[in-house]
Amino acid sequence: MKFEDYHISAEIKKSLAKLDFKKPTDIQYKAIPPILKGEDVLAIAQTGTGKTAAFVIPILHLLNEQKKNRKRPGIKCVVMAPTHELAIQINGVFQEIGKFSRIKTLALFGGTDQAPQIEKLSAGIDVLVATPGRLFDLRSQGHIDLHAVEILVLDEADHMLDLGFIKDIEDLIRYLPRKRQTLFFSATLNEKIKKLAYSLVHNAIRIQVSPKDPVSKNILHSLLFVEMDDKRFFLERIIGENADKKMIVFVRTKVRAERVMAAMQRVNIKTVTIHSGKDHQERAAVMKKFRAGEEMILIATDVSARGIDLPDVDLVINYDLPDVAENYVHRIGRTGRGMSKGQALSFCSTEEKGMLTEIENYMGKTIEVIELGRELYQETLDFTKNENNTTWRDIQKELDMAEAELKKKRKKKK
Ligand code: ADP
Ligand code: MG
Repeated sequence: MKFEDYHISAEIKKSLAKLDFKKPTDIQYKAIPPILKGEDVLAIAQTGTGKTAAFVIPILHLLNEQKKNRKRPGIKCVVMAPTHELAIQINGVFQEIGKFSRIKTLALFGGTDQAPQIEKLSAGIDVLVATPGRLFDLRSQGHIDLHAVEILVLDEADHMLDLGFIKDIEDLIRYLPRKRQTLFFSATLNEKIKKLAYSLVHNAIRIQVSPKDPVSKNILHSLLFVEMDDKRFFLERIIGENADKKMIVFVRTKVRAERVMAAMQRVNIKTVTIHSGKDHQERAAVMKKFRAGEEMILIATDVSARGIDLPDVDLVINYDLPDVAENYVHRIGRTGRGMSKGQALSFCSTEEKGMLTEIENYMGKTIEVIELGRELYQETLDFTKNENNTTWRDIQKELDMAEAELKKKRKKKK
């Protein structure tokens, strides 16, 4: 089914066509009809599968049609998001898809001056995308009236739990009308999330997309055994031979992020970092450059990158394995988004083998290992000096072959 065939406002179809969204993704296909019908929905789908538009499209349609008929003012929909960056991103999706509609949206988040936000609020907003903290503050101060809210969305619910927002959320819910539609979106589902979800939604339609494999089928991911002290040589080499590719390099801590950047600088490779040691403005500036392609290599920690949608990342490198198994899935989910394909490569040192096992247990499958052999490994260490490019090319060839193999297998299945 194509978007053209949906019973949604022409204004929305027009913007979807402009965005080149032709067909719904799996989660959109399953979630849009019940949301249009006014049902509560609990949706679980891997990262990068288009969850945002899965709620943005039907909400815009519902509110837009309503607004055509009568103009009762007030905030009709509240979307709660865990971070500043995500609030901005989700609001951006509302604005893009709602470009031709009558719906006005606003992103609210802490860490910035309240005054401009309050001014915008008074102009009449239909959809509020907010982090729980700032929403709570502004409501307590009387700047936000939640009485007219008809739809509540919790996006990235798993991450919200991690960040300890549960109390804020519960407090806020008390100010929302009881009779409302609640939509719950998360990349993962565990006992804690189920508990939160079922305390909020009533008779929810539960939608889960490919729960068996948490990794999107568009991502080819593999692993190299590399010792701690050797990692930078491997990174240097990979960057050197993928000059035109956009990459995110994940490291364990902010200190390591800065260290890896310095190591790359020494071999004349320019990178940028994003982590919790930087303030919001610095982070926003870095993300803007990376998005625009002015910077091609972003070194990041987990916290800063969760849920962020970066359209054309070609390669994710796990320079360090994550501390939490689940984050492996979130990290590599930064590539291969929507309908595009992506690659991910992880470095695993002897110390990290325990973590690797945890990650594989979490996913219920093993990660393909690229066997290097001692000679190739040594060559990479000498790479800085010998300028001989064959080694990484061989690895790349192997990756390409693995991809071709995978494609063949998939075809057979069909
Ligand atoms: P999630 O929240 O599931 O991690 P996002 O909502 O951020 O994923 O969407 C991931 C990417 O997929 C975005 O870049 C978005 O523009 C793209 N996308 C979403 N839906 C479609 C679609 N129907 N067709 C093409 N691209 C899409
Ligand atoms: Mg999302």
